[in-house]
Amino acid sequence: METIVQRGYVYAAMPASKEVETYLRQCFGAARKLYNLHVAHLYDYLEKNDYQPGERLPSMKKMQMPSVSTFKKQCVDEHGFPYLYLVDAFASNEAKQHFQKAISAFNKIAYKKQFKKSALQRQKTLRTELTFRDLQGMPRFHSKKGSKASYTTFNQNGTISIREGVLYLPTAQKSPMNEVALTLNMHRPLPKGSSIKNVTVSVNAQGKFYVSLCVAFPKEIALIKQPKQILGIDYSQSHFFVDSEGKKANYPQYYRQAEERLANEQRLLSRRVKGSNRWEKQRLVVARLQTKVANQRKDWLHKKSYALARRYDMVVVEDIDLRSLSQNKRYAKNQQDNGFGTFRLYLQYKLEDRGRRFVKAPKQFPSTQLCSCCGCKNTLLKGDVGIRYWKCPSCEVAHDRDINAAFNLKQYGERHLHESHISA
Ligand SMILES: [Zn+2]
Repeated sequence: METIVQRGYVYAAMPASKEVETYLRQCFGAARKLYNLHVAHLYDYLEKNDYQPGERLPSMKKMQMPSVSTFKKQCVDEHGFPYLYLVDAFASNEAKQHFQKAISAFNKIAYKKQFKKSALQRQKTLRTELTFRDLQGMPRFHSKKGSKASYTTFNQNGTISIREGVLYLPTAQKSPMNEVALTLNMHRPLPKGSSIKNVTVSVNAQGKFYVSLCVAFPKEIALIKQPKQILGIDYSQSHFFVDSEGKKANYPQYYRQAEERLANEQRLLSRRVKGSNRWEKQRLVVARLQTKVANQRKDWLHKKSYALARRYDMVVVEDIDLRSLSQNKRYAKNQQDNGFGTFRLYLQYKLEDRGRRFVKAPKQFPSTQLCSCCGCKNTLLKGDVGIRYWKCPSCEVAHDRDINAAFNLKQYGERHLHESHISA
């Protein structure tokens, strides 16, 4: 069956000229500026209306948020410099969507009244008072100094195209630029029949440009009707994951390995005079090391998920909330290092590309607590991650905590398959 699939392709890119680079940086700036104006309006509204922690944030309409064009006009009138009109209109429009997203994300956790750890620390040591600005998840100003800047632009009737390895992006009507061109390092070709939906241009801390192309293309996918090779995988702190065949993923702790060097280089950086030549040089050393760790991780995640997607017809994972895990101080560093969430995403599209299945067991499925032999539920395991091995109280089979959980996930997948067959 031929379906249209959407995928992202990331390429390293080189702005064709200094002017193009300046233009792109102005687009990043416009996206950030507009976002910050939204945040400023929000803070202003909350202050005037005596906002109390725990309350949900008001809708854009309620707080009478000015439209993007009003913001733009205000801004240009104040500074007398029309650069906001000289950049891609999408760059300033996306701010509104991002802001909207940040509001809904906050409203989901507003009831928790949770303050940022750093703010609580500050309250303890400096005795500063906590305000709504210190709430976890509250939309924040985007800093100019942030390591990464980006903007997204959309393809409208062929305004974006690639010709001979050069990507052409739309400019603004009033911009003096005729074309915005970036030379791509096309380390792999786009799939046949690709059409570009949108492009996100970004620059990292090293000053390297990247473009992420979201493309749609037709693909022949034959769904495997009777999956035979089924695997359950259970997330594990120490091994990344453990599968239902008892194998451990053994994730190399790239961050931990580089940690000592990174700490040394960062210490050096802190001793340099900020903004000096030697500081700038050292900043790049740190940025390069961080990029390296991130690339090593990504590479490993791709290879591991590729290996599973080639071998198994169906993989079952649990739908755990990784965010709440990473808030646990003891696990935080490890968790951020190993990126299980990214792994699930890679695995899903790699399986689906091959007509295989990716199944998420629901959050309430007690994969850890069930005995995979008799199905009895051992509630002692709940909340106590210290129990690595246990014996089932009813059938007396000895279990390894992680392998047993992975096995339950596999069984969940088999049942899921059976049920969907009956209903089909
Ligand atoms: Zn049992």
